Amino acid sequence: MSDALDAVHAAFRDEVQAFLAEALTPEIKAWTARQAGVFAEGELCKLWHKVLYAKGWVAPSWPVEHGGPGWTPMQRFIFADECVKAGAPVLPAMGLQMCGPVLMRYGTPEQKAFFLPRMLSGEHYWCQGYSEPQSGSDLASLQIRAVRDGDAYRVSGSKLWTTHAHYANWMFLLVRTSTEGKPQAGITFLLTPMDAPGITVQPIISISGEHEVNQVFFDDVLIPVANRVGDEHQGWTVAKALLEFERGGGAAASGLWAQLRAARAIAEAEGWWGDSPAFRGRWAELDVELQALDFAERQAAAALMAGQRVGDATASRLKLSVSTLLQRITELHMGALGAYAGADQRGALGMGANEAPVGPGYALTPTAKYLNSRAATIYGGSNEIQHNILARIILGA
Ligand SMILES: Cc1cc2nc3c(=O)[nH]c(=O)nc-3n(C[C@H](O)[C@H](O)[C@H](O)COP(=O)(O)OP(=O)(O)OC[C@H]3O[C@@H](n4cnc5c(N)ncnc54)[C@H](O)[C@@H]3O)c2cc1C
Repeated sequence: MSDALDAVHAAFRDEVQAFLAEALTPEIKAWTARQAGVFAEGELCKLWHKVLYAKGWVAPSWPVEHGGPGWTPMQRFIFADECVKAGAPVLPAMGLQMCGPVLMRYGTPEQKAFFLPRMLSGEHYWCQGYSEPQSGSDLASLQIRAVRDGDAYRVSGSKLWTTHAHYANWMFLLVRTSTEGKPQAGITFLLTPMDAPGITVQPIISISGEHEVNQVFFDDVLIPVANRVGDEHQGWTVAKALLEFERGGGAAASGLWAQLRAARAIAEAEGWWGDSPAFRGRWAELDVELQALDFAERQAAAALMAGQRVGDATASRLKLSVSTLLQRITELHMGALGAYAGADQRGALGMGANEAPVGPGYALTPTAKYLNSRAATIYGGSNEIQHNILARIILGA
């Protein structure tokens, strides 16, 4: 991508490279290299968020009036691309990419004034309370109850799979305020501090050994009506817009390309590359598919920047491509690693966290990443659900 840049964008790329060369200290790079989760672990996120905030680059997609850098879609892609190439930590999407744009569209002036600057500075760390034990794909069936009590809602129930709830100090959540009519009609969108009395966070450890997700329990938690986004019972509209930001505004191709390049480097080091046309064929196939994804992501980002909506079909198509490409690339990594692929080199699968890694440095995380990426076709709306959406749109049903 960067080979064909015009002079202005080439100068911007140089500026980003120079900044990253200085800001990404050897400690931050080494810490990032050990990450296998979707996002970097919380303390690393907070540290990197501060660095980007100080530079004015923490919210690439935000408009200038709210503290964004006012970049073009191409600048956003260059920035994402350079961050990945330089080994920068991946920051969580829940605040800056999901809740932020929703508040800009649906928040009251008071909510915007209070939350957006704190989201930008990193003072507020957000998590997403959508899924529940009985409600994932069928999100509109959610049951957590919110009963109006004067100027507040009393909330009881639980949220499941809440990414980074153990780091977050704020959650946006969907609650049921009515059981009348269609399930979608009785949902309300609320914001709560995580230290509100009655909230308990219980860890869930994933198959790769990571602690990323949690179950969050609400026991008669009071959430002020002032923390409601949109009207009562109208939260489904807000929720759907947020899912669109979750699915539609990303720049995943850059990160996937970096992983694909890493798979080739491993294959070369392990001696597979030259000897295996089958491996090279799989690699080339993925490279071509990534080019298609890159093009589609740029179109979606350009639409969002122009104030247009990313349609349901595009959002679903992007989610399908990103999640399946990620899984296939991590599978390629496992193939390239050969014998090293069997054990988690970081000790996360039981060797003991402080034990020295076995094997070369490049064998440190691929196993954990392979295991972790199994969830990519589930979170953010499973692939079966994306196929259903596409089928409905195409068949007009
Ligand atoms: C790592 C991870 C992080 C997550 N982080 C968050 C988070 O931060 N916040 C949050 O709110 N949620 C989060 N989730 C939850 C995620 O959104 C749900 O897991 C997802 O929506 C699927 O819901 P479910 O787990 O209840 O599975 P189910 O909906 O019960 O689905 C089970 C299986 O049935 C299939 N299925 C269901 N309905 C249909 C249908 N109509 N047609 C065809 N197939 C169907 C599904 O595709 C799936 O294979 C996370 C999940 C994971 C794994």
